[in-house]
This record gives sequence, C-alpha cells and structure tokens, in this order.
Amino acid sequence: MFAPWASKMISMRSSQEIVTALEEGEPGRILDALKFRGVDQQALFKAAREARDRVLGHSAILRGVVELTNLCRMSCLYCPMRRGGVAAEEHYLLSQDLIAAAIERICADPINVVSLQSGETPRVAELAIFATRVAAAKAPDRREVLLCLGKQELQVYEDLRASGADSYIMKFETSDVRLHETLRGEPLETRLSHIRALQSIGFAVGTGSIVGLPGQPLESVADDIQFGVALGTAMLSVSPFIPGERTPLRHAKMGDRDTTLNAISIMRLMSPAATIPTVSALELTGGDGQLAGLMAGANVVTVNYTPSREAGLYHIYRENRFRVPLDHALRVIDLANLSCTEDHMSLPSANRGAIKAHQPEQRTIVEM
Ligand code: SF4
Repeated sequence: MFAPWASKMISMRSSQEIVTALEEGEPGRILDALKFRGVDQQALFKAAREARDRVLGHSAILRGVVELTNLCRMSCLYCPMRRGGVAAEEHYLLSQDLIAAAIERICADPINVVSLQSGETPRVAELAIFATRVAAAKAPDRREVLLCLGKQELQVYEDLRASGADSYIMKFETSDVRLHETLRGEPLETRLSHIRALQSIGFAVGTGSIVGLPGQPLESVADDIQFGVALGTAMLSVSPFIPGERTPLRHAKMGDRDTTLNAISIMRLMSPAATIPTVSALELTGGDGQLAGLMAGANVVTVNYTPSREAGLYHIYRENRFRVPLDHALRVIDLANLSCTEDHMSLPSANRGAIKAHQPEQRTIVEM
C-alpha cells in the first residue's frame, strides 16, 4: 500500500507531464488538465503564472469599458440582453456627451485600454465610430482602442479601423456546430467569417468561449480551448456560464468555477503571449473570482465606466451582475502580486507589429 506522500508524488509527476505537454502545444492533454483539482490544479496554476510572468512580465493590463447600447438583434439563449429580453423602456443608446465624459474618466485613471462594447445592432455603428475617434484622439498619450460590438457590416469594420480602433473581440462562444446553432441561432461559420474579416482588415482579434453551457460535455470545453488557440488570435478568453434570470436557461446549472480557472491556465500554457482576461462573471461563481483568475494565469481586468443608470440596464450575464470598480481591480492585481503596466498598448509587441504591418487581403464574410 502506498504512503500518502507517495501518491502525492505520483500525482505531481503526472500533472507535470501534462503541463509540459500543454506547453509543447499537445491538445490531447487538455481534457486531463480540465479535470485537475487539489495539488494537480495548484501545479497547473503555478505553471500558468510562471508562463505569463516569463513572457509578459509580472504585470496586468487594465481595460476601461463603456457600454454604448443594450440593444441587440440576436437571441442567444444564455444572454439576458437578447432581443425581447430587455423591455423597450429599458433600451438605451448613450449620448455623445456621455460617451465623451466616460472616455475622459478612463483617460484620467491608470487605464491602458479604452474598450467600447455593445449588443449587436447596426444602430451602434455611427456612435462607435464617434467613440473610437474620441478615444483615439488622446494622442500622444495613446491608448489601445478595443471594440466588442458583435457582427457589423464590412464597411463599418473598415471605418472603425480607419477611425483608430486597434483591436476587436468576437467570441465564438462554443465551437460545437450544433450547440452553437441551437444557442445562438446562427451557424458557427458566420461568426468565424467575421473573425477572419476583422483579421484581414488588420485588427488584433480576441475570441473566446463559455464553460458549462447546458448540453456541453467537458470534451466540448476541451475542443473549444483547442479551437480558440488554433485560431491564433491575440486575445483569448473563457467565461463561466451564468444562468441569467430573463433567459430560457435561467434554471440551468452555473458553469463550474474550477473548470473555468483550469481553462484559463491551459490557454496560458498553450498560448503564453495571449492577452487573457479574468472576467467579471468569475465573481458570480464565489468569492474573489477575479483574483482566482489572475492566480490561474490571466493578465487583464476590465473596469466599468458606463454611466451608472445605463450600466444598470446592461444585463450581461445576469441583471445583478458584478460591475468592476477601479479600486476592486487594483486590489486584485495587488493581491496577485502583479503591477499595472504603464504601457498604453496592451498587446504584446509581436501582435502590435501585425497591426502596423497590416496589408488588406481577400476577405470572406457572410452578410447578415
Ligand atoms: S450574447 Fe451578445 S449577441 Fe448574443 S444576445 Fe447577448 S448581447 Fe446579443
């Protein structure tokens, strides 16, 4: 019979083998690592932190987000902001004055990236171009301008890029073709064609997935990580599924926190230079969720700068979401033994080069 210390040593050895395989880009070990708990999980987290700190330094990036509108034409089953999920009297489109004031506040704080976010609607295009110009006009103290506006017309992407936007987040959410179509009401390929279009225009692109969707086995979560890493985007993210009150999935089980944290670590090991956020939804899975994300290898925290009335109507994840204030972000960064980078471009230099050296290529896009 083994002594307890002997089984612990065997466990550590096998977890080290899996960590090494992930660092070498071996996708066959993702599923094993997603199941890590206890001492194996701690070894995974430690290896991910070391990979981050080796490649990106002991630093974290602060994003400041302004949520331009809660209008959305999509009906994703897991999202409270889906079409019909928000009452007409609760819809908002921020005024230009409110946007300019919010960006002003971001630039007065130690924030590296101005992030403009919204539901998916063509009605946000003009406003987003305005907001991008305001954010980009902060030269020479130039901050990265990051967009997350869902699918837009190709011309809108080009106008946004020409207005000074650097990067764009377009999550694929789940790479399972059937689950994607069931939950999002459109083919996965539609989303992917927009990711390719954004890349070809010269945006640094971010993508990501959800952990714990109803009907999603752990193998599918592993597939999502492999899929996201293979897309080769500059930013990767993973969020736990949150059963929002006003959604058809409100009675489903919340995504598992440990699996989500393991997914962060795996992404870090397989894509060490990627920008990986510790999302606010982690705070809904238990205490200090965002700190746990940083301890698992993430390197970004997003602070909310949406005016408070409208922020209360932006029902991402759930109605009573966690809206990250600056002092919370600074606290978790400090507790994770990281410092805030003073660089106003969050992307690793290799990714910035890709932006600057942009050459238009052939673009494929599925028109909506
Ligand atoms: S997840 Fe995005 S695209 Fe889908 S309903 Fe919500 S806001 Fe709209």
